[in-house]
Amino acid sequence: MNGYFSYKRGARTYLLAYHRPCVCTQVEGEHEWSDVCDRFPPVVAEIDGEEVEALSVERLMADRDTSPIVARGRLSPAKEYAYLVAKKKWDTDKRREKLSDLKPIF
Ligand SMILES: [Zn+2]
Repeated sequence: MNGYFSYKRGARTYLLAYHRPCVCTQVEGEHEWSDVCDRFPPVVAEIDGEEVEALSVERLMADRDTSPIVARGRLSPAKEYAYLVAKKKWDTDKRREKLSDLKPIF
């Protein structure tokens, strides 16, 4: 099953992508593979936006703490996933930057 998921482990949430991006002659531009495609590209698996072995994500997809990412508003699940990954990276960068920029408290 292709899609985008979030996996909760303790206080942390990991973002998972398991999809089959395709470039072929049947649909214009890059798109998700479907029955109309005339090619069969490999699966791309990601955790938090970093490409990983497909098996790593397949294992997490079978876990009961994994749930599909639900698209909000006009965003597709793929765009919602991209947004959440970007937000998570930004939050992480921001936190690191703040710590190193802090002046001593005396
Ligand atoms: Zn295609």
